[in-house]
Amino acid sequence: MNFNDKISILHGVGATYEKRFNENGICTLGDLLYYFPRAYQNRGDVFKISDTPFDLYPHSYILTVGSEPKVAMIKRGMTLLKFKAFDESGSVNITYFNQNYLKDVFKIGSTFRFFGKLSRDKKTPSMTSPAYEPILPKKSLPPLVPVYPLFNGINQKLISKLISEVTDNIDSISKEFLPESILNRMNLCSLPFALKNIHTPPDENTLNAAIRRLSFDELFLFATSVSMIKSSANVFEAPKMSDTDISKYLNMLPYELTDAQARAIGEILTDLSGSEGEYVKAMNRIVVGDVGSGKTVCAAIAAYTVCKNGYQAAMMVPTEILAVQHYNSMKEDFHRLGYTCELLTGSTPAKEKRCILEKLKRGEIDFVIGTHALIQDTVEFSKLGLVITDEQHRFGVRQRARLAQKSKNAHVLVMSATPIPRTLSLMIYGDLDISLIDMMPPGRKRVDTFVVDESYRDRLNSFIRKQVNEGHQVYIVCPSVEEKSEDVLDFFDYNPFIIHDNECDGTQLKAAVPYAKELKESIFPDLSVEFIHGKLKGKEKDKIMMDFSEGKIDVLVSTTVIEVGVNVPNATLMIVENAERFGLSQLHQLRGRVGRGSDKSYCILVSSSKGEKSRERLDIMHTVYDGYTIAERDLRMRGPGDFFSQDPSIRQSGQMNFSLASSCTDTDLLLSAFECAREILNDDRYLIKEENILLRERLNISLRSNLKTIN
Ligand code: ADP
Ligand code: MG
Repeated sequence: MNFNDKISILHGVGATYEKRFNENGICTLGDLLYYFPRAYQNRGDVFKISDTPFDLYPHSYILTVGSEPKVAMIKRGMTLLKFKAFDESGSVNITYFNQNYLKDVFKIGSTFRFFGKLSRDKKTPSMTSPAYEPILPKKSLPPLVPVYPLFNGINQKLISKLISEVTDNIDSISKEFLPESILNRMNLCSLPFALKNIHTPPDENTLNAAIRRLSFDELFLFATSVSMIKSSANVFEAPKMSDTDISKYLNMLPYELTDAQARAIGEILTDLSGSEGEYVKAMNRIVVGDVGSGKTVCAAIAAYTVCKNGYQAAMMVPTEILAVQHYNSMKEDFHRLGYTCELLTGSTPAKEKRCILEKLKRGEIDFVIGTHALIQDTVEFSKLGLVITDEQHRFGVRQRARLAQKSKNAHVLVMSATPIPRTLSLMIYGDLDISLIDMMPPGRKRVDTFVVDESYRDRLNSFIRKQVNEGHQVYIVCPSVEEKSEDVLDFFDYNPFIIHDNECDGTQLKAAVPYAKELKESIFPDLSVEFIHGKLKGKEKDKIMMDFSEGKIDVLVSTTVIEVGVNVPNATLMIVENAERFGLSQLHQLRGRVGRGSDKSYCILVSSSKGEKSRERLDIMHTVYDGYTIAERDLRMRGPGDFFSQDPSIRQSGQMNFSLASSCTDTDLLLSAFECAREILNDDRYLIKEENILLRERLNISLRSNLKTIN
């Protein structure tokens, strides 16, 4: 068996299954091997029937079948199979639906390990459809049972069986690609060992060793590819912008630039004007700054400079509404300075669009602002000098690749509002030069933030009403879209990567859709309450955001999708439900949605979590208002994982998918990964030495498999 063999060589994988797997990105044995469990059930701790604590969670029981299974027909072709089973402490009723064949499995006197929730609603406790494994002599059952993410028609049993066929041949399928020096220094287990044990861990320590090794791989491969991209970047040339006199633009501004803005603009102008010659090294810069720190004016001045030198500038933003906002805030300034500025989005009428395209091609438009409509094949520029992307993490890799193609000989400027701890930013934005805007314009009012629990609910609702009565608007952010399903519970309860402390204490998660309904029907029937979430279509989302920004909606209940960068100055209250579930930087981003107008704004974090750590974490939001300090604190408390899961651009900038490292809590591991990558590349820049061949192959595989998931 080989890493690249098709999965159809496995027993039981026919054409139908193969197609289903392929559709989900699993084509080769290697793909299957890297299809990691999303959680593990702890079936090793066996409970007694009589002393099971009353809780929501399933547990393991070793029970002997005590009565013959009886099958009963309940409604419409549904059958119920029922029997008693016992341990030395008591007995339970066990039922299964529509599985008559189990009659022959559960023979009186035979013993099984059952795993399920014990219900005490009736006099005799009961379990419904527990998982079961026969206890056999001389064969011990594994304490940790992997739970795989499932997709159409593929069940746990099938995946586990296929994966164990692969892990039985682990030594021929996976080869160590890390040099021994790194393994030793980092104290990592071998790759075959890790890959086998992440699927079938004999105990928690081994599992942790496997996870640590495989997380390191992801970080290390990420670090290596970022560093390689960086060393090959900047080879493009772009036109030199010799005229960097921006005084006219500055004179028009109703305010003074902050020192940080001035510094960032200085850096941009230095990039654009370069040293000598007609062409200079293309700018490849990211401006990172907290929400509201004033990044837009930096972009506008860059665009102005380019126009002034006779070139065109394009600015791409992720949503229509953001495009409109930017356009409205900049067009007059540009017109006044004598430059044409146009808007191009998906909903630009066809005739107008044709006209804009024609003008862009002829060089009659100096500055164009738009959505991904800008990267359509039909868009041609006459003299494109600068491409700006705002909030670029909202774009997919494919979109950005197309933009890069269009801008081959243009300068590139990226804006991001995700505060990344300084320690990480150098690594994460490795292939870009960074301008940090680390101060706010003066006079900005801070958004007072409070952490409350459920007992404040009534007061909270009155506060919402008060804000609305005063003519303001309210955001309510929930951690999920629909009501918490069993599946989600399972995930949080058993994912050893997710649980960092006792934060996940089984409290009910608020879900956007039902919560909006509840508010609308019983609490604010007289107000306009709407919801928005990522599963809605782009058009629907745009419509709702537009309505909200026009004041037609009083209370907007949402998941974290509420548009980054959208400015609704009239929104003065941000409520975050189950706040303990969010990263601090994410909370800070959410808080940035309010406090954009002249009115006093508030952020209320609702959390009933009893965990001391989550309380301590949330209290930081009450005392700290600077995104970078918050990011650093978050990094210290939760590790680097959050920063990956939160900002797809990070995952994508290195063309890497993180499946394990996104929940990595070990900052040192991340730092070491970058150090190791640097060492290897210093010694062998293109990875052509004999000892690095396997590493290079592995790197290609991750790049390829990443592309597969994008396409
Ligand atoms: P972001 O960095 O989130 O994109 P914006 O560029 O949208 O922030 O700026 C937020 C607001 O701050 C805008 O209304 C802008 O006009 C204003 N602003 C930007 N720079 C300054 C400054 N130096 N002094 C005062 N107000 C500023
Ligand atoms: Mg912005």
